[in-house]
Amino acid sequence: MRRGKLFFLCEEYQDALHDLNDSIRYQHQDWRDKSYAKELIEMRNQCIKQIEEAKKLRPANKLFNYSKELVNSNFQPNFEHLFSRPKNYVDVPFLTENELLPGASAKIEMAFDPEKGRIMKSKTNIRKGTLILAEKAFASWLQPSLYAYYCYNCIKQIPFRSFPCRRCVRVNYCNSHCEEEAWNSYHSVECDYMDAFKNNSYGHLAAQILIAAGVETVFEVAKEGKIDAHEWPERKLEANYKSFYSLVSHEDKFAVEHSIMFGCGVCVIVHLLEKINFLQKNDPNYYLIAGILLKHIFQINLNCFLVRDRRYKKYEALNILAHTSETHRLGMAVVLSGSMFGHSCDYNTDCVDNGASLVMVLQRDVEANEEITISYSPHYKQMCFRERQSTLMRNYFFTCRCVACENGWENKQFALRCPQCDGSVYWFSDNSSNYCVDCERIDIDFKRFAKIESKAEKLYESVDQMLKEKKLKNVKSVIEKYTRLYSKTRRDDFVAFYYALCLCRYYQLKKKYKRAYRYARLCLAFEKALFGEQSLEVANSLLRMAHYLKLERNSRPLKAVLDFECKRELNETRREAIDILVTFKHGTLRLVNESEANFLPHFEKIIYKHGAKYGFTLYDV
Ligand SMILES: [Zn+2]
Ligand SMILES: [Zn+2]
Ligand SMILES: [Zn+2]
Ligand SMILES: [Zn+2]
Repeated sequence: MRRGKLFFLCEEYQDALHDLNDSIRYQHQDWRDKSYAKELIEMRNQCIKQIEEAKKLRPANKLFNYSKELVNSNFQPNFEHLFSRPKNYVDVPFLTENELLPGASAKIEMAFDPEKGRIMKSKTNIRKGTLILAEKAFASWLQPSLYAYYCYNCIKQIPFRSFPCRRCVRVNYCNSHCEEEAWNSYHSVECDYMDAFKNNSYGHLAAQILIAAGVETVFEVAKEGKIDAHEWPERKLEANYKSFYSLVSHEDKFAVEHSIMFGCGVCVIVHLLEKINFLQKNDPNYYLIAGILLKHIFQINLNCFLVRDRRYKKYEALNILAHTSETHRLGMAVVLSGSMFGHSCDYNTDCVDNGASLVMVLQRDVEANEEITISYSPHYKQMCFRERQSTLMRNYFFTCRCVACENGWENKQFALRCPQCDGSVYWFSDNSSNYCVDCERIDIDFKRFAKIESKAEKLYESVDQMLKEKKLKNVKSVIEKYTRLYSKTRRDDFVAFYYALCLCRYYQLKKKYKRAYRYARLCLAFEKALFGEQSLEVANSLLRMAHYLKLERNSRPLKAVLDFECKRELNETRREAIDILVTFKHGTLRLVNESEANFLPHFEKIIYKHGAKYGFTLYDV
């Protein structure tokens, strides 16, 4: 009840409703205190009303109107009422409008492609920012080190106070509903042996899927065998084991060492299942179950998506905390409709982090009958053609024929100068190989270049250090030194970016904000080319520019002539950033007030605790 009230006061009506319902359910019999009961019921009714209201007015509309108003320079921005408590999930209810595909928008449909198998296509023209998918995960796995902070069932951040498991108290949940759901479907079976199960990641998840489906169902489905992929577009993809069983597994394509490793994992899991009496050694189907578990592991490998959480960045002068593109891993999850999307190195749909459910938002307009694509990781702007091809072949066993790969698209921004022809050389990110697209040489000898590069890198790092320590005396000369070095090995855009990147930080520290802003603007062009116009990197870059302008404004006397220009630019820059963030999150932004950020449960703690492991650095804006 207390937590419910807290949620209510924080205007988190969905969570509040859940807790209040629990209170009513469990304390119903001994309600002696009439006023207490009355308060409870009144609060619950308020929640229901507010949730209905919120459905009518999507935050996106609120924000779009808002950003329109920002253009008007007389308008005094007050963001406070727009920003809510940051969460690692968005308030998007699961979609139920598509009759054949659970969680999918009615505007898309499944199709069969002879080469790719099942893919997703648009039925009509769809606008960017449209919600394509909001699907509940079929199964999920949370990193054991995060059991205290995230819900074991839905991998959402646990707010205020957690619901521990009724027996083992080792895993925690966000509410009683999640606890019950996990308990009834798989956790009651594994509970006593969590310590043994939890570190088997893939094996653990494979076992959970088996337990949740039940051995009888699993046998039945396995006996029926796979339905041919080209039959699926007419069928309903039900959220059940049968649909999971139909996901690709490519047993024959995995490298031997991987298969052996997975096999060992299965041995451990089978042994554990014996221990908990889920399986008997003399069962005639003992080895069949082991085989099915192995198949599950292959399927999870190819179809799971990573559940991630994002880092935030503080823009003090703007009083905004925005999410960035930096993420940290929470676990993994398997979805069914979501697994039907194909890859493109120039994808049109982004997956938004949302706990153990998958939310996809269209990032650019598509026409009818166009394939809806997501990223399986390589993007043509950040990875060269050959590496994209080899990465996808190694991890997913297919040759990518997306528009970027068919046309051999390369991003020249991060290429090196070819020592032979001054053309563009691309490297594999592990430095194992390189090639020049212009003179078509492979594995060019870069010894001399490598020396210059490492020297430049070291100088860049020392500048970074000096700026962190605010030792500004020699910074500019060192910046010029490494810029000269980079110009021997790198293309011009890259050189300009690294030149401007440090200079804007330098001028910020010198309190020359207008200059800092100009250099930040230079960085923006490079970031747009490297990450795309709609990326979170660009949104943050814009916010940084707005931040400098705000500081500039604050440092000037009011009513100065320049002030007007500055304000208009500030508003436009900020609006551009917000437009990107709105599209990215389908309207549910995670910008918060700095003051509210202090109430983030566990958030900072997790970052500090796990930050080093995932290679994060904390920002100092
Ligand atoms: Zn939960
Ligand atoms: Zn338990
Ligand atoms: Zn491709
Ligand atoms: Zn060349």
